[in-house]
Amino acid sequence: MAETIDGRALARGMEEDIRNEVAAMREAGMAQPGLAVILVGEDAASAVYVGQKIKACARTGIASFEHRLPAETAEAELLALIARLNADASVHGILCQVPLPRHMDARRVLEAISPAKDVDGFHPVNVGLLAVGAPGLTPCTPTGIVRLLETQFDDLAGLDALVIGRSNIVGKPVALMLIERGATVTIGHSRTRDLAELSRRSDIIVAAAGVPELVRGNWVREGAVIVDVGISRVTSSEGKQRLVGDVAFAEVQHARAVTPVPGGVGPMTIACLLANTVKATKALSEPT
Ligand code: NAD
Repeated sequence: MAETIDGRALARGMEEDIRNEVAAMREAGMAQPGLAVILVGEDAASAVYVGQKIKACARTGIASFEHRLPAETAEAELLALIARLNADASVHGILCQVPLPRHMDARRVLEAISPAKDVDGFHPVNVGLLAVGAPGLTPCTPTGIVRLLETQFDDLAGLDALVIGRSNIVGKPVALMLIERGATVTIGHSRTRDLAELSRRSDIIVAAAGVPELVRGNWVREGAVIVDVGISRVTSSEGKQRLVGDVAFAEVQHARAVTPVPGGVGPMTIACLLANTVKATKALSEPT
């Protein structure tokens, strides 16, 4: 049986450290870290994610400021809110939940967030810093994925890693992080010719395609470590809804370890967001 990597437990441990760090910062007279969360529209999944992030702030002593805007909000109004938050000294992190309504230019909106407060790590400045291996705010899901892998390996150097998915949010940044740690990285995507074959050669598989149970048992070699990033809601023949990852979990039990869905990457994403908020607070509090 493969080890099920417990992302919830790992995230709880990180939260504990963050709570202690926030308490120590406040005792030392530093500002209370503050995270502004913007949600535009009524997307049900986004509302759940935002709710989870706000609750996690409360658990760790981080102040949260929630901004819910109707779906028909003009882009200029959202940009004006971001400008206010950029200038607000009590706000150290700004997160604008994606996807945004179709009438908005997501790139323009995300680029309006000050790179110093960009706790999602999506701003081109932070993406660039990641690409050149310089310190910056790194995106939360990829950071969480690497942390999960580091529970399995002392050193990722020299390992063959396959990342399935080439999005700006997950695939590309996690590939950069793995390269930085010395892994030999292949990025597979919807146009890749033989994903199964590439997969069978890999020590590490990071599956982030959003395709339910794409990675089958015969794609995985013995001893591989798999991080399942995908989350899809599927309806069973009895009409019941359940969450499914990109990996056929029951078929990959000959792997060394695999993350579950839910309870793997999801909680780590939130813990890394909190860590980024504390990091941004410290950087913004340094004398210039
Ligand atoms: P995306 O749709 O932006 O990108 C998906 C990528 O997968 C694309 O690059 C595409 O080329 C590739 N792809 C699609 N079908 C494929 C196939 N059949 N074979 C190989 N590659 C294929 O999605 P995303 O934002 O990167 O998210 C990916 C998945 O991860 C989604 O299920 C999403 O819900 C999940 N996700 C989870 C978390 C978390 O915190 N747990 C965070 C972000 C995303």
